[in-house]
Amino acid sequence: MTDTESIGRTESTGRPGTPAGTANIGVVGMAVMGSNLARNLAGREGNTVAVYNRSPERTRTLVQEHPEAGFLASESIDDFVASMARPRTAIIMVQAGRGTDAVIEHLAERFEPGDIIVDGGNANFHDTIRREHDLREQGLNFVGAGISGGEDGALHGPSIMPGGSAEAWETLGPILKSIAAVAEGEPCVTHVGTDGAGHFVKMVHNGIEYADMQLIAESYDLLRRVGGHDVDELVQIFERWNEGDLESYLIEITGEVLEQRDADTGKPLVDVIRDEAGSKGTGVWTVQNAVGLGIPVSGIGEAVFARAVSSKPPQRAAVQQSVKSRPEIAQVPDTFADDVRAALYASKVVAYAQGFDLIIAGAKEYGWDIDLGNLAKIWRGGCIIRAQFLNRIVEAYAKNPELESLLVDPYFANAVAEGETAWRRIVGIAAASGIPAPGFSSALSYYDALASDRLPAALIQGQRDFFGAHTYQRIDKDGTFHTLWSDDDRREVDQDSSTR
Ligand code: NAP
Repeated sequence: MTDTESIGRTESTGRPGTPAGTANIGVVGMAVMGSNLARNLAGREGNTVAVYNRSPERTRTLVQEHPEAGFLASESIDDFVASMARPRTAIIMVQAGRGTDAVIEHLAERFEPGDIIVDGGNANFHDTIRREHDLREQGLNFVGAGISGGEDGALHGPSIMPGGSAEAWETLGPILKSIAAVAEGEPCVTHVGTDGAGHFVKMVHNGIEYADMQLIAESYDLLRRVGGHDVDELVQIFERWNEGDLESYLIEITGEVLEQRDADTGKPLVDVIRDEAGSKGTGVWTVQNAVGLGIPVSGIGEAVFARAVSSKPPQRAAVQQSVKSRPEIAQVPDTFADDVRAALYASKVVAYAQGFDLIIAGAKEYGWDIDLGNLAKIWRGGCIIRAQFLNRIVEAYAKNPELESLLVDPYFANAVAEGETAWRRIVGIAAASGIPAPGFSSALSYYDALASDRLPAALIQGQRDFFGAHTYQRIDKDGTFHTLWSDDDRREVDQDSSTR
């Protein structure tokens, strides 16, 4: 018996070799995400949902607690497979990595050509490309689908980012549309691209989420430690911000987190939570892949690094002890909260611009045809980064699908220009006061780098040519040049003509 098989069954409609069952969709993995997704599916007209989990207890509990769902529950993988109508469509919601591979293997042994296996977990897109390739050879459709929205989204409507083949999308599309969140009347799901495209954009979505959270955290820190606002005032500030163009799920929950009091001490809960931020890996993957593709996602990078810095208490304690004095908190203008808001908005534009740059680069590298406007549309509801802001991105790509950067779209260019003075003030105040604001300051540096007509990269090219003969190009003539740097005979050689 394999580790995905178990004895007995609570209810099923057949066995392998017998006529196919009646479930039009199946879910494997009855932990938080899978059970909620299965309930969501069962609540939609026309769906009959087969469910299975390696440990049968989870399945039994779900079936007992939700008889209204009419689940076809199986306690063995054979019964699960037999309970599904053809083409069989099973969504895997188990632990990413080895758990997913184990379930895929067991389904693939039993599925027939044309059947569809969907991995709805947070898989690494490289794994998804590999799995899709392997299963295609068997005639099976494999779809890596990013699903965002956590437990609540899975139950009430997530944002879904499926990859895989167009053939699989034909069967899967209507099912996923029926359970996805709806924003502005449209379901938050689209066929993102082939093989690993869905998990790639889900990875970048999570990276952007990291950046957005970091920027909000920096805003909170500055408002509190420099602006002197107490937690009650902060709740009001975030509520106010949630009514304008910053309106978003993350701003909304920030207000709610800050409002929460600790039952034991009566203090704001945020003051009793250890200041060490955790992560599960998708932020790191985003940065690793961006580095490989040569795309500066500094906002996401700073967010990942800021969590890493926070999670090193011994190092923080050592530096705190060795530092002799800390700067005084700067005096701030009455407009401070508005300035922070402007800095947050401008930095957020940069973080999203960088994230979309990464998606463009990934699409080019892996041969995906990703419609950026459609992608922004499906992030408007259900997912963690859902926000008003996404509507502006949809509009930007509708006006010009070939945008060089979101920063050059007239709306965003204007928004950043309007907030620019405040943004610079905030970065200066943070530095003068000794308050870390890596997200704000790196976003501003990125903006300034793109906006500068001349960068010190020229000097770096000179240095590279000096120690490694890496050559350089000139601003005034074509060709590739190298300078002979020896002191007694310094002269430039045109590499192109010298090698001809
Ligand atoms: P999880 O804690 O990541 O995984 C637990 C589930 O995986 C259980 O059903 C477990 O079965 C199963 N499992 C683990 N190893 C297995 C194996 N070798 N064979 C068969 N089953 C195995 O569950 P989750 O939090 O519900 O998340 C499911 C997936 O969704 C993950 O990929 C996660 O990254 C992704 N996701 C999660 C969230 C979230 O908010 N939690 C949001 C988006 C995406 P047993 O009960 O038998 O142990």
